[in-house]
Amino acid sequence: MRIAVCVKQIPDPATPYELDPDSHYVVRPNDQVLDDTDRYGVEVALQLAEATEGSVTLVSMSPSGNLQGIRQALAMGADKAVIVDDESLRGSDSLTTAKVLAGAIQREGFDLVIAGTESTDGYTGVVPQQVAELLDVPSLSFAKKVELAEDGAVRIERQTAAGYDVVQSAVPVLVTVTSGVVEPRYPTFKGIMQAKSKPVDTLGCGDVGVSPTTTQTIQAVEPVPAREAGEIVEDDGEGYAKIVAMLEQVKVI
Ligand SMILES: Cc1cc2nc3c(=O)[nH]c(=O)nc-3n(C[C@H](O)[C@H](O)[C@H](O)COP(=O)(O)OP(=O)(O)OC[C@H]3O[C@@H](n4cnc5c(N)ncnc54)[C@H](O)[C@@H]3O)c2cc1C
Repeated sequence: MRIAVCVKQIPDPATPYELDPDSHYVVRPNDQVLDDTDRYGVEVALQLAEATEGSVTLVSMSPSGNLQGIRQALAMGADKAVIVDDESLRGSDSLTTAKVLAGAIQREGFDLVIAGTESTDGYTGVVPQQVAELLDVPSLSFAKKVELAEDGAVRIERQTAAGYDVVQSAVPVLVTVTSGVVEPRYPTFKGIMQAKSKPVDTLGCGDVGVSPTTTQTIQAVEPVPAREAGEIVEDDGEGYAKIVAMLEQVKVI
């Protein structure tokens, strides 16, 4: 099974983000890390590839930097990586990102695409479904368990508020996984050394057939306003009436 995993390189969440004063975009440092959310997708892909003698290709769009985040996923065991790094993609919205990822995945060929449910830094949570639509394949979302059915279809347990649904699709298909779907492995020393020589293809927009169009601009970035103090209701025996009135006013009841 040919498995493509979408992995995002992000600035290390442990260090403060720096903003470009003119564009307000995050200044992407040279040493970005693998988004923790995507470690789960890589682990699921590795387990399915091991079970089917398949391959795992990482697909990413971001400034390459020193490829630290990509190498972290290669060190877990992925076979190769494709990264689309093009300055004209700076400030891309989720749809342009999806077009780029879909173009790169199509170029590689795939049976299964795996992505996180939501990234840690952008967290729009819509890119994978857009990728599925662009690739014209079904998308199975919120998987808390992923397995192969006897006929080669992909079966997931889809997390719901009440429990889970069992959903299945023939390949090709896209699956988004939740954190906790599996326990991601830690790279071994051997894996870290091997990752240094694994193939990483760096592509531009033209290679994946995308003409970037800036569809969003950031007008300003401001700190979250301080939370206003709440109103304290002293209970003089009629305190409940004030609370009911307040709940009615905000249309809770
Ligand atoms: C030069 C350049 C600068 C960029 N600067 C920023 C920035 O400042 N802030 C920012 O958030 N993004 C930046 N990006 C990346 C891109 O704009 C975002 O990835 C995109 O907006 C996705 O939104 P999201 O993170 O909310 O996706 P979500 O829908 O929340 O992501 C869900 C899942 O989709 C997959 N996915 C999402 N984005 C990518 C990706 N880029 N590569 C591989 N897999 C992905 C992952 O599996 C992720 O878990 C930059 C890209 C380039 C090329």
